[in-house]
Amino acid sequence: MVSYISASYVYPVSAAPLKDGVVAIDSEGLIKEILTATEAASKGITDITYYKGALVPGFVNTHCHLELSHLKGKIAKHTGLPGFVEQVIRQRQAEETEVIAAMEEADRKMYENGIVAVGDISNKLISKEVKEISGIHYHTFIETMGFNPVKAEEMIKAAVELKNAFLPLPASIVPHAPYSVSDELFRQIRTEGEKSNDLISIHNQETPDENAFFEHKTGSFLKLYQFLGLNIDFFEATGKTSLVSCLSKLSTAQKTLLVHNTFTNKSDLDFASAHHQSLYWCLCPNANLYIEDKLPELQLLQEANVTITLGTDSLASNDQLSIIEEMKTLQDYFKISFDELLKWATWNGAAFLGIEDHFGSLAVGKAPGIVLLEIVDNSVDNPVDNYVDILITGKIKRIA
Ligand SMILES: [Zn+2]
Repeated sequence: MVSYISASYVYPVSAAPLKDGVVAIDSEGLIKEILTATEAASKGITDITYYKGALVPGFVNTHCHLELSHLKGKIAKHTGLPGFVEQVIRQRQAEETEVIAAMEEADRKMYENGIVAVGDISNKLISKEVKEISGIHYHTFIETMGFNPVKAEEMIKAAVELKNAFLPLPASIVPHAPYSVSDELFRQIRTEGEKSNDLISIHNQETPDENAFFEHKTGSFLKLYQFLGLNIDFFEATGKTSLVSCLSKLSTAQKTLLVHNTFTNKSDLDFASAHHQSLYWCLCPNANLYIEDKLPELQLLQEANVTITLGTDSLASNDQLSIIEEMKTLQDYFKISFDELLKWATWNGAAFLGIEDHFGSLAVGKAPGIVLLEIVDNSVDNPVDNYVDILITGKIKRIA
């Protein structure tokens, strides 16, 4: 059975927004038609459920750690990344039942918050069952780390086993961060990934000390390695930022998500654009404010014309897993158009995860999830074109 829904605005993302547009969906949420108000009237369609606000496609959360959901509210804010990592390591251990219950709750909340697909970092198999029965599409990033090159063989073997254990769910082996993966382990991850052109995700420049470590072998990472009991005498400063130091270790054939980018500067962006054509830049603003109390230089990223996606990071560094809350934060701190923000939250993430045939836009033949956003329309003359004046209030309702 087909039902018709309409709202003040319909935002397909892949096409121009429609004021009072009408979407026809079947009982499975499959889109059968997208019509203007005039087209719907001329077809004599009258049985339309009308909502106040904007109908948009379901959101794609490109960076999450479901496994850390039980740490909600347990990690102190504004400690900086090394302090955050230390806290997570100290508090991560918990009863399996507690971890599973927290993941189920987080998965349910993400669904309610209009999230239809997630790129999820995993170190263990524990999230598999939650992902299998979830209404959300998950791509699992098997996170690999080990700064000691001697351990590379052992680490990659464990990662391959974990990836196989996640089957048939989609998964790929990825490096944790430039400062936690040895050159040898980077090589092995690349060899594995290139076999099937896997997706790559890596944390990037989340703290200024990441650059200090690579440029001068200084900063608080030295203390972190001490805490971890790792002798890093073998490591020599590269004299370059962490992104420039690590980018050549990644395969340019693989789509690669750089996560956070809080301390990425203009020359990093120039270097990255010149050396890797398949980069996606994930912003997790609420996690950045939680850990470092600092946001990425958004204007630089926009001027560099890079492809931006959004992520929530985990409940260890966020009060909720909601892409709409990430969008609101960006709107609070930066002057940014609603159209552009929405593209980051939907289409770009779907394109990175390779699921744009099903998700990321409202289009006939797709079942991308449909979300109603409550908005404040401050525009006067031409509301749709003046989308910069559309503010998200944060209230949302999942329609399909
Ligand atoms: Zn993360």
